[in-house]
This record gives sequence, structure tokens and C-alpha cells, in this order.
Amino acid sequence: MKLVDSHCHLDDEQFDADREETIARARAAGVDTMMAIGTGDGPPDLEVAVRLAERYPFIHATIGVHPHYSAKAAEETFVRLHELANHPKVQAIGEIGLDYHYDFSPRDVQRAVFERQLALAAEAGKPVVIHTREAWEDTLATLRSHWQGGGIMHCFTGDERQAREALDLGFHLAFGGVLTFPKAEEVRQAARITPADRLLVETDCPYLAPVPRRGKRNEPAFLVETVRRLAEVRGVAPEQIAEQTTGNFERLCLRAWASNG
Ligand SMILES: [Zn+2]
Ligand SMILES: [Zn+2]
Repeated sequence: MKLVDSHCHLDDEQFDADREETIARARAAGVDTMMAIGTGDGPPDLEVAVRLAERYPFIHATIGVHPHYSAKAAEETFVRLHELANHPKVQAIGEIGLDYHYDFSPRDVQRAVFERQLALAAEAGKPVVIHTREAWEDTLATLRSHWQGGGIMHCFTGDERQAREALDLGFHLAFGGVLTFPKAEEVRQAARITPADRLLVETDCPYLAPVPRRGKRNEPAFLVETVRRLAEVRGVAPEQIAEQTTGNFERLCLRAWASNG
């Protein structure tokens, strides 16, 4: 079984002591490919994922300013993001979006930085990775008016109605550890109705470890637990989930990569 973890924070300090081993365990578990998310602790360092992707052929990178850190974005941030968008290992812009749960940055600043990064992604011709929390309506409204490309609703934890709204916009839905939580029946229903060609899996490690690792530090190797549960929910074999989600990731994020041979 070959899997892609479409969203992991391998730069996180929780991996400082055993990053090499964590990556080796992922590969041993069948997690062949990882997309390292480049938001880190926010500007000015925009290259936390690029540095990893430069060291490992099977790690890809995103760049972007997380909504939490929108207030740290300065003019030179966007200049640097423009330059980095052309890096050969940068496959997507993200995670970007709106987070009204924590409100670490003022909402008008979050919206402005989100819109600017959507414009940047459109210019670069790259998909976007969307983070949205307690901001569903505003996120969708922004995407409807400012985005026409592909993308990923990362850590999708919405219900069936929200899933359909995102799917109608052309988005892929990435399911993570929450899918395995006992109370997450609505999320499982959303996973049931997602077309096979729009399905992705992720860990969002070090956060949100799936059952039976819930509450512990998450890591890409644990993706296997989410894939097992997703297979049960959809009534197919885990190998089929692996094949579908890997193919979807390659088509969405590695198009240029693939066509370059
Ligand atoms: Zn997120
Ligand atoms: Zn994340």
C-alpha cells in the first residue's frame, strides 16, 4: 500500500529530537510521499517546508501564511512568496484561509491576506490548501469570488451539506484523524458521499492523532489508521483508498512534476 500524507507539519519542534526516525517510520508504514506544510510560526520564515523538500525527494512543500499569522505578513512577505512559488518542490499555496475560533489575527487582516494569497496561487497556477475554522461562510464566499482553481479543504470536519458546497466549488476533501473519533459521525457521512476522485488523506501531524493514538503526538506513519477507518466507512479495501488518494494527490498537486518527466 502506497500512501500520501497530504498535510504534515514535519518542521514542528515536536519532531526536533527524532525527525529522521519519524520520516523513516512513515516510509516503512507505506507513507511514501508527504506534503510538508510551510506555514511554520509565520513570517519572516516562509521556507520551513522548502528546506525539508530539498533534502528528501519524496517530500513536497507548500508555502503560505496561516490565518493565525496574517498580522505578521508584510510587503516583503508577498515578494518572497512570489519568488518561492516557482521553486520546483513547491506544489501548493497553503495553508491559507480564515480562523475565527482563535482570532489570533484581526478578521479583516485575515481576509485581506487570504485574498492576496489566492491571487498569488492563481498567478503561479498552483492549487490552494485551505484552513477554515468557525469561518465556513466567509471562507466559501471568498473562494467563490476570488478563486477558480483546484484545492484542498484540509482537515475536513464539516457535515454533508458543507462537503457538497466544497465539492461544488471543485475542491478535494482531505480527511484526517478526526474521522476516527467516536463522535465524528457527521464527518464520516461527509466522507461517505465524497466522490472517489476528490478524496485525500492527511495527518496534520503533530496534531490530531487518529484513534487508537488519540491524544499522543501524531506522525505520518499513523495515517494508516485513518485510511483503515475511511475504507470501512466507504465499504472498500484500504488498498483502494490508497490507490485513489495517491492518484488524486498526484493529479492535483504534482501535474507539473509529472509532465516534466
Ligand atoms: Zn489547519
Ligand atoms: Zn496544518
